Amino acid sequence: MKVEGCDLRSMPTQAGTLNSQLTLTFLGTGTSQGVPMIGCDCEVCRSSDPRDKRLRSSVYIETPETSFVVDTGTDFRTQALRENIRRVDAVVFTHSHTDHIMGFDDLRRFSHVRGSMPVYASAETMRDLERVFQFAFKAAKPIPYYLKPEPHVIDGPFKLGSTTITPLPVPHGESLVNGYLFSRDGEKLVAYLSDCSAVPDEIANAIVDVRALIIDALRHKPHPTHLSVAQALEVAAKVQPGRTLFTHIAHELPQAAEAELPAGVGIAYDGLKLNL
Ligand SMILES: [Zn+2]
Ligand SMILES: [Zn+2]
Ligand SMILES: [Zn+2]
Repeated sequence: MKVEGCDLRSMPTQAGTLNSQLTLTFLGTGTSQGVPMIGCDCEVCRSSDPRDKRLRSSVYIETPETSFVVDTGTDFRTQALRENIRRVDAVVFTHSHTDHIMGFDDLRRFSHVRGSMPVYASAETMRDLERVFQFAFKAAKPIPYYLKPEPHVIDGPFKLGSTTITPLPVPHGESLVNGYLFSRDGEKLVAYLSDCSAVPDEIANAIVDVRALIIDALRHKPHPTHLSVAQALEVAAKVQPGRTLFTHIAHELPQAAEAELPAGVGIAYDGLKLNL
């Protein structure tokens, strides 16, 4: 296998990274099928608003000392190219649904630069990752330059650089998946709950007053495994964040629906950056 010789670490970092404590970029804000959906002629799928084009949900987080991704969905390669990502020091997974893991293999570029790729996931998600990507986790004869995962099973808060990452277990239909709270210097900067069908009170209490709440709001109509807009607004009312941004959006929810939301609540879109 031939790998180009250029060293990603010698590339300049993205603008804004060093001036704020934490920069979050929405790599994708769409539900599992993405928006537009294949073969759909609805108004949102035909929308001319570029914000109505949504790749699978994931975020990229940059801090002065480290950069990492939360999930590597099906569109990870496209997202990394679009955002000109040059550095990934770790990956943190929420759960193992295909729309959150299927871009894992494309971490090889960053794994090669680092020598390995630290992977953080719950025990259940790690088991699934090890099964699906057995060729990387259990390689009998590791291929030079290939993706070399370094598994870290999450059993409580952990640190990446100076960022404390606290798992927030939330129901997602029948399963329990991880959202995450990202704090620095004891300040709750952002809570990311991309896939959930409820947010238990103890989780809402743990993230009260967070600067930014990013939360699943699939569409207006209720769904068995995702929050609706009304349900997400109820959670936001409990959490009282500085601002709320909806993600994991389906083709039933146009970006234009943002105009009907209360002050401080918006719909995220692909490429949106938060400096926290
Ligand atoms: Zn999902
Ligand atoms: Zn549609
Ligand atoms: Zn899911």
